[in-house]
Amino acid sequence: MNSNENINFDSFDRKHLWHPYTSTNNPLPTYKVKRAEGCRIYLEDGTELIDGMSSWWCAVHGYNHPVLNSAIENQLKNMSHIMFGGFTHQPAIDLGKLLLDILPDKMEHIFYADSGSVAVEVALKMAVQYQHSQGNKEKTNFVTIRSGYHGDTWNAMSVCDPVTGMHSLFGSSLPVRFFAPSPKSRFGGEWLTDDIEPLKNIIENHHHEIAGLILEPVVQGAGGMRFYHPQYLIEASELCKKYGLVLIFDEIATGFGRTGKLFAYEHAGIVPDIMCIGKALTGGYMTFSAVATNEKIAHGISSASPGVFMHGPTFMGNPLACAVAKASVELLLSSGWKEKVEMIEKQMKIELAPAKECPEVEDVRVLGAIGVIEMKKEVDMAYLQKRFVEEGIWVRPFGKLVYIMPPFIITAEELSKLTSSLLKIIMN
Ligand code: PMP
Repeated sequence: MNSNENINFDSFDRKHLWHPYTSTNNPLPTYKVKRAEGCRIYLEDGTELIDGMSSWWCAVHGYNHPVLNSAIENQLKNMSHIMFGGFTHQPAIDLGKLLLDILPDKMEHIFYADSGSVAVEVALKMAVQYQHSQGNKEKTNFVTIRSGYHGDTWNAMSVCDPVTGMHSLFGSSLPVRFFAPSPKSRFGGEWLTDDIEPLKNIIENHHHEIAGLILEPVVQGAGGMRFYHPQYLIEASELCKKYGLVLIFDEIATGFGRTGKLFAYEHAGIVPDIMCIGKALTGGYMTFSAVATNEKIAHGISSASPGVFMHGPTFMGNPLACAVAKASVELLLSSGWKEKVEMIEKQMKIELAPAKECPEVEDVRVLGAIGVIEMKKEVDMAYLQKRFVEEGIWVRPFGKLVYIMPPFIITAEELSKLTSSLLKIIMN
């Protein structure tokens, strides 16, 4: 190790701290970050990286934003936390009003949860409790599509892709769900009319045991970064209506502008019964999520025994999280996010296109502020990560996918540096 590496890699961390999807035996290096500001991440030795990840879809305004900092600082002076059972507070109310303003009209009730995965657990529980309230006691299972990702907790995991997810590992301890193939019709391409058939067959044959359908609308994120045709959502929604299934949209990754619409359901104009949001909700400042639903679901759950929704996490409605989420959403709405995302999309389309010529590249696709280079083979993450850092960019590939989703505040110059360094390494 040279002296730079001594600063950037921490031996305690390597020995004792678990990182996402990492071995303790011979962990991949973790770079030690000193601070982050705007679209830049600074390592301990002063290495400066342009952020291409928004910390996994979250930091849409970049890091260390004065408006978000002061929202937290101001709230801290009053209280950082108070239980939500029996109490309420202004930050929760203000955020709720703001969310109802921007969510689809039919959404009337909001459940604040701790993380994206917990939001998915809450949404699945809502669907089952709703069906129970309607006397549909057999309707307890779920249907979804392959290549999905909904989180790492137990039930969220059960609706993730059964091959790339963790099904084989956890085997029979996971509930067994119904999986339709992932849609073949690509976003922006032709709608293949038989694409819906497998889902239709499952629902027709098993609707009596299915509480709901859960989907990431239009963009399947961590399960494969696939962009599919909005018509799929329109037809899936019809099936849910016909067979009494609760339709759940997981907008945890797609929400808050990332796909070019404020929420991805807008690409299809289909409003689900339940919607999960998280990640960019707090501008990436802290873990927090929300589950929104309509009157039908909330009223159903509340009208049948036990008359309450059976979930109540300790940190529900955390005031710091509510305060920073409100500030972040307001900032987003007043920042011209749409134009920024359109510019990022346009620039990425032009600048990533040359990767198509590379024989190792399978596909290049861009939607909103998401740019994906799909390789033909799995990449060597340790090698690529190191090369990216040497080039001064932060990109974290997985499987065959090398992708960027920068903060919306990225400048055209920063984005060009990100894409040119990326291509230089990929096409090498
Ligand atoms: N749903 C989707 C679509 C996600 O992308 C993620 C996180 N990548 C989750 C759920 C889980 O969120 P969290 O990591 O906050 O639990």
